[in-house]
Amino acid sequence: MKDKMMAVIYEGKGQIAFKEVNVPKILDPRDAIVKVGMSSICTSDIHIIHGSVPRAKENVILGHEFAGEVIAVGDAVKKIKPGDRVVANVETFCGECFYCKRGWVNNCVEGGWFMGHLIDGAQTDYVRVPIADNGLNIIPDNLDYEDVLMTSCILPSGFWGAELAEIKPGDTVAVIGSGPTGLTAMMSARLFGPANIVAIDIIDSRGQLALDQGWADYYVNSSKEDPDKLIKELTDGRGADAVIEVAGTSETFQLAWKIARPNAVISVVAMYAEDQVLPLPSMYGKNLIWKAGGVDASKNDTLIRLLAGGKINTRPMITHKFPLNDIEKAYKIFENHEDNCIKIAITPYED
Ligand SMILES: [Zn+2]
Ligand SMILES: [Zn+2]
Repeated sequence: MKDKMMAVIYEGKGQIAFKEVNVPKILDPRDAIVKVGMSSICTSDIHIIHGSVPRAKENVILGHEFAGEVIAVGDAVKKIKPGDRVVANVETFCGECFYCKRGWVNNCVEGGWFMGHLIDGAQTDYVRVPIADNGLNIIPDNLDYEDVLMTSCILPSGFWGAELAEIKPGDTVAVIGSGPTGLTAMMSARLFGPANIVAIDIIDSRGQLALDQGWADYYVNSSKEDPDKLIKELTDGRGADAVIEVAGTSETFQLAWKIARPNAVISVVAMYAEDQVLPLPSMYGKNLIWKAGGVDASKNDTLIRLLAGGKINTRPMITHKFPLNDIEKAYKIFENHEDNCIKIAITPYED
């Protein structure tokens, strides 16, 4: 094994560098070292670079979405062994505390989002994964890295948003935002048997992908028409039974409650750059249920079974593929939504 590798380093607000660093070592008996077979770039990485994730540590390697092969494990690792093909979980969690036992791993007393944020991540060739028995899931033989790559972050986020929305068979569900997490929210919503899924966005290629893949039944470009009109037509004038807000602007935050029917659940998965205002007097009598927060990625076993069983397919979301050598170009394409980009797969460095 080599002892140096190329990596994307967060150097402080507005700055990343692609440079050589040391290959990681086991630091704790619960660690594993994974040789990254495929990684991705997330909107959260862009948020870090722009300085909107103040907790992010300078000089860490970015990247929390990846799959690969285990090459070493610490003495306390039980489930995972060298040679296993694995996909990572964005969350590090102990599995034993009050919150973990209830599936609320985002608030694990010794966990949370660590990799590519507080400690080194995966936009490189080797990564140290803490509490590896929980942080890694074994990939079934019938799935490739492309099939499971979204299981690190984007799929559990969408699934979590759909679960929060309490969707019932026959419901009309509105998903605001048709980017990566919006798309996985739609395909997850489908598992709960709604009659209609309405995708809302302002980038038509994203709405079209949702329609083409059968993730949504309708698409509305909210910069051109009011989604409320279609949703009212679909629901005898009531409004959406469930709303999943993934877009994260002040306009979409307001849209979320306006298109909801009385007593609907509004599931807020979005991250906002600033505080939002709940206009309680305007909403008075609508009796809405708001749920919000950071993803509890505690059901990755379930999601991998759904992928292996062909009930969810996130592979069409990977619109681009580059070797690690070209990751700076990949960042540019991803951030600017160039060339109808949804998600980018990064493959190992080519010497
Ligand atoms: Zn992510
Ligand atoms: Zn815990």
